Amino acid sequence: MANPRYRGRFAPSPTGPLHFGSLVTAVASYVEARVHRGQWLIRIEDLDPLREPPEATGQILRSLEAHGLFPDEPVRFQSRGHDAYHDAIDRLLASGHAYRCPCSRKELQANGGRHPHHCREARLQPGDRPFAVRFALHDEQCHWQDELLGPQHQVVQAELDDPVILRKEGFYAYQLAVVVDDIDQGITNVVRGSDLLEMTAQQQQIYRALGAEPPGWLHIPVILNEQGQKLSKQTHAPALDDDRASENLFRALDALGQEPPASLQASGPDEILAWACQHWRRQAIDLTAR
Ligand code: GLU
Repeated sequence: MANPRYRGRFAPSPTGPLHFGSLVTAVASYVEARVHRGQWLIRIEDLDPLREPPEATGQILRSLEAHGLFPDEPVRFQSRGHDAYHDAIDRLLASGHAYRCPCSRKELQANGGRHPHHCREARLQPGDRPFAVRFALHDEQCHWQDELLGPQHQVVQAELDDPVILRKEGFYAYQLAVVVDDIDQGITNVVRGSDLLEMTAQQQQIYRALGAEPPGWLHIPVILNEQGQKLSKQTHAPALDDDRASENLFRALDALGQEPPASLQASGPDEILAWACQHWRRQAIDLTAR
């Protein structure tokens, strides 16, 4: 029986094809959802057309399919969710949790991160100067429990850390859209790379400002290349070869500390994923990035 109290997701930004680091995260979030008899969704976070080659979304979806990672609901695309982000911004502006800000990065830097125009208090209306919308954080010593990494502590500084949620160019920002969609899709458990750990305390404040409780969080240590850099498009991580799906999955489970038996290498993706769900040991994941 499905457990309606667990809904997980994999939410790639299509800045390039799927690489090994993102496969590791996808597998971990998929298996966690299956082990909890929950649902697993895929969401394409395609908010920034300037950083997203048009072919990347198709490549990612084909790769996930080739690796046997099928979602329980139709894939969601953030590029089609603008109304929801617009509404959320209106609500945050109306409740005083967000404000318009025309400051340039240079101006902020020159002013020690404070807003020279007192944007928070000024309640600027749309005007001649292009403006961004920022979320108004409150000072907080934020403590929470990561389901893998244990107790976490982050300091949140009002004004100095206020994230942009609508960019001057008119694009909605990740920090807002990820929370709006996780709330809307009823996501109860977020499994993602530890490179996003530092976003978590701010996201918890955005959840609460939108009247929702944050989900459970589980951050997977990121996979590094031989130079010690995170595998990503910026560090030229190679695209996965979909014709070697079994080998890729085997290596992903190995990277997750699951010690798959050598005999599994000859199996197909479905069988490898089924093995992973049966033998999953979250505590075997190596906590140091590698
Ligand atoms: N779209 C984000 C990324 O690819 C991940 C979002 C998340 O899992 O919270 O880095």
